[in-house]
Amino acid sequence: MRKIFRNISTLNKRNTLSKRTNLNKANTVNKKLMKENEKLREMNARIDRENNRIEQHNLQLINIIENLSEGVMFADNKGQFIMVNSEAKRLIYQSGIGINLKDALKNTKVFDMVGSELPYENFPSVRALRGERSNNIKIFVRHPSKEYFAEISSMPIYDACGNITMIVSCFHDITQTIKQSRKIEEQKKELEAVLENISDSIAIFDNKERYTLINKTSREMFFSSYNSMDDINEGYRQSDFYDINGDKIDPGNSPSSRVMRGEEFKNMRILVKSPHKTLQVDVSGTPIYDDEGKFSLGVLCSKDMTEYFKHEEATKNRYEFLNRMVNTFDLPVVRLSCPDLSVVDINKKAFNIIKLFRPNVESIKEIKKNRIEDLFKTSQIGDYYKCIYEAINEKKTKYLNKKKYIVNGNEVYWNLIFEPMLCANGEIEEILILIIDVTSEIKSNMVMEKALKLQGEFLVNVSHELKTPLNVIFATAQLFNMYCNSGSLDEKKDSMLKYIDSIKQNSYRLSKIINNIVDLSKIEAGFFKLNLSNNNIVEVVEEIVMSVTNLTESKGLNIIFDTNVEEKNIACDTEKIERIVLNLISNAIKFSDIGDEIVVEVKDKNEFVEISVRDNGIGIEEKNLDMIFDRFKQVDKSLSRNTEGTGIGLSLVKSIVELHGGTIYVESEYGIGSKFTVRLSARRVLHENMIYNSNVRSKDENIQVELSDVYS
Ligand code: ADP
Repeated sequence: MRKIFRNISTLNKRNTLSKRTNLNKANTVNKKLMKENEKLREMNARIDRENNRIEQHNLQLINIIENLSEGVMFADNKGQFIMVNSEAKRLIYQSGIGINLKDALKNTKVFDMVGSELPYENFPSVRALRGERSNNIKIFVRHPSKEYFAEISSMPIYDACGNITMIVSCFHDITQTIKQSRKIEEQKKELEAVLENISDSIAIFDNKERYTLINKTSREMFFSSYNSMDDINEGYRQSDFYDINGDKIDPGNSPSSRVMRGEEFKNMRILVKSPHKTLQVDVSGTPIYDDEGKFSLGVLCSKDMTEYFKHEEATKNRYEFLNRMVNTFDLPVVRLSCPDLSVVDINKKAFNIIKLFRPNVESIKEIKKNRIEDLFKTSQIGDYYKCIYEAINEKKTKYLNKKKYIVNGNEVYWNLIFEPMLCANGEIEEILILIIDVTSEIKSNMVMEKALKLQGEFLVNVSHELKTPLNVIFATAQLFNMYCNSGSLDEKKDSMLKYIDSIKQNSYRLSKIINNIVDLSKIEAGFFKLNLSNNNIVEVVEEIVMSVTNLTESKGLNIIFDTNVEEKNIACDTEKIERIVLNLISNAIKFSDIGDEIVVEVKDKNEFVEISVRDNGIGIEEKNLDMIFDRFKQVDKSLSRNTEGTGIGLSLVKSIVELHGGTIYVESEYGIGSKFTVRLSARRVLHENMIYNSNVRSKDENIQVELSDVYS
C-alpha cells in the first residue's frame, strides 16, 4: 500500500516537471495525467476499501481464534509468540506475546500417555520449528500452576519460497475425557472382576460362535480343561448335556444354539455330565442385536442348582417321611399352603373329623382350596389364625391346647399344633395343623380332680364322724373323773351304767368307721378276700333280720322278713353277707320315720338269689340315684333327717357284692321309699374256704358295730 502511495507521489512530481519543460504539451499531457490521476485515485480508494475489508476479516479471524474452545498459539520461526488465544493462555505456563517458546516451556514437563517424559526437542511445537508436523498427539502436561491432559497438533507455516515463517499449535484440554475414560476403564475392570468371581456362570459369545467372555464359574462348570475355550462348541465336546427327562440334548438345541437362533429363555434345566462330576444347571439365554437388528452377541447365565436340588430333595423326603409318619400315627393333619392359607390336602383322619363339622362333604377333594374357617365351624378361628401368623413370623411351632369343641352334641377337647414347613430356600411353604384329641385325658383329669375333691370332702366327713363319738367318750371320762373326785361313785352307779353303754355304743361307731375305711383300702389294694362256703342264704338273712327286731321296735319301726323259699344254699362269705344286709337295714332305719315299715326279702330265682331291703322312708331323688354307690358320695346331708354317715357304706356294699360276683341296684321314689336289691349267683363252691380268722367278730358284736350309727 505504501508502495502504491509512493508511486503516485513520484508520478505527481514528474507531472510538475513536464509542465515546466513543455508548456505546449502541457495541456494535453496534463489532461492525460489528470485522467491517470483520477484513475489512480479511484484505484487508491478501491485499495483502501479492500484494505478495510481485509482489516475487518483480520479482526474477525482474531476474534474467532480468540474465542475458540481449543487453545491456538502462533509463533514466528524463532519461536517467539505472535498470538496466543485465551484457552492457550489458560494452558501454557507463560504465554505473553514476544516470549520465546523455550522460556515459555522452561518449567513445563510433558509426558506421553504411558507416562514417559518427552525431552524438550520432542515437544510438538518445538518439532514444528524444525518443520515437523504432529497430528493429534495426546500428552500429559505439568507446570507449576497446572496439570492437564491435552491433544495437540503442531505444524510449520511456509512462505512462497518454502521458508518457515511461523508455526501454529492447536491443543485442547482432554483431562475430563481422559479421566472419564480411565474411570470407565476402571469400572470395566471392576465389572470384569465381578463377572469373573460371581457364583453364577456367565458366558458371552459373538456371532462367529466365539467366546468373548467366560467367567471362572462357567469355566469350572462346563470345561474340564481350560486350554481351548474360544469355540462355543468346546463345552459340548468336554461335557454331555441332558434334559430333565434324562434325554441327551442334541447340539442344535443346546442353550447357545437357541440363543444364536434368537431365542430368549429362562431357567432351561439341564444335566451336565463330565468325567468327574454331574451338575444340575439352570440356564438363561439372551441374544443381543446390533443397530441393524443383526445378532451380535449371545449371553448365557447359568446357575448350579445341584446343591439346591439335593437340599430340596432332602426337604421333600423329610416332608414325605413326616407325612408318612403322621399317617402311620393316625393323627389328623391339615396342610395349608403359605401365604394364602388355603387347604392343600388333609389326611383321612382329619377328613373324618371335618365330616363331623360338615356332614355334607363327601370327599377330600371337595375340601382342597378351602380355608380353615370353611372346615371347622368354631368360634376359635381367630385363635387359629393368630397361631398361624405367629408360626409364620417366628418360624416356630405354635400350640393351641385343650380347647373345647361341641361335636355332634358331645364335648371334645383338642390340642392343635401349628407346624411351619420350610422349603429349601428357608421360606415357609406350608403350615401343618396337627389335631390331637385329648378328650379322654382331659376328662380323666376332671374325674381325678373330682375324686380329689371328694376325697377332701370325705376326710372332712370322716373327721367329723370320728370326732362325734370321741367327744362323747371324752366327756363321759371327764364325768367319771368328777364322780371319783367328789366320792359320789356309788351314788351315781345307775347313771354311770348308762354312760358306759354310751361309751360302748360310740366305740362301735368308731369301730365301724375304721373298719369301713380299712376294708375299702383293702378292696382298692386287692387284699380283701372272701371266705366262701356253701350256706343257706335264707337262714343267714333271716337271722340277721331277727337280730335287729329289738332295735327297730325301739325306733317304732316294723321290720318284716319274707321269702319264697325255705332253703337255698349258695357260695357266700356269711360274715360279708351280714355286713351287706346290716348296712342296707341300717340305712333303711336311718332314713325312715316312726311307724314306717322295712321289708327284707329273699327270693329264689333259680340261677340266682335276690336279697332286697325295702323301706317307705324319705326315698332318694332321681338325680342322686346314680351316685349313691360312688365312693365317698353322700346325698346332700342337709336334706336328710339323719346327719350320721361317711358315704362309704353303699360303696363298700357294692364292692363286697361284686366280689361275690353279684350286682346291686336301687329303685327309689323321693318321699315314697327305697328298695335296694342284691342279686347273687346261686352257684356253690366245691372246696369250702373255712380259714379261721381270729379277727372275725361275734355276730352280736357285728350287729352292734354295723348298726352303731342307728342305735341311740
Ligand atoms: P352313709 O354311710 O353316709 O349313710 P351310704 O353309702 O350308706 O353312706 O349312703 C349314701 C347315701 O345314700 C346316704 O347319705 C343317703 O343320702 C342315701 N341313702 C342310702 N340308703 C338310703 C335309704 N334307704 N333311703 C334314703 N336314702 C338312702
